[in-house]
Amino acid sequence: MKMNVLDKFNLTYDELIKGVLCKKCSYTPMIRLRGKWKCNVCGTISIDGHLSAMRDYALLVNEVFTNQLIKNFLLLPSSSIAKYLLTSANLTSTGMKKQRKYRLDLSSFHPECWLDFFHIGIFISRKPGYGLQ
Ligand SMILES: [Zn+2]
Repeated sequence: MKMNVLDKFNLTYDELIKGVLCKKCSYTPMIRLRGKWKCNVCGTISIDGHLSAMRDYALLVNEVFTNQLIKNFLLLPSSSIAKYLLTSANLTSTGMKKQRKYRLDLSSFHPECWLDFFHIGIFISRKPGYGLQ
């Protein structure tokens, strides 16, 4: 069963912080550089930061998404990079070309682990009255 996290915290999609987050210092967005993600603040390099961001999107918004939606959420510079990342993530997909939809199955994640999800976690920690313990 899917928990609607945005409703739970009375948030909208526009309020979510977009981009790949640095797991070390929480800066966002990391930048895409030579096939990796680099944090311009602490210098951390990530190979698979986009996977966490896609998982966040699936949890927070929808398990099914298109190239355009992921490009927007991850702040990717082009649809071809989005396509490459989506393809390499081994997601199940249906449809062709621009109609293609990808599904990230969250059933293997436990709902109580939602605080591990970075986008909502970072957002909540920045909201008055909330804090990650
Ligand atoms: Zn960093």
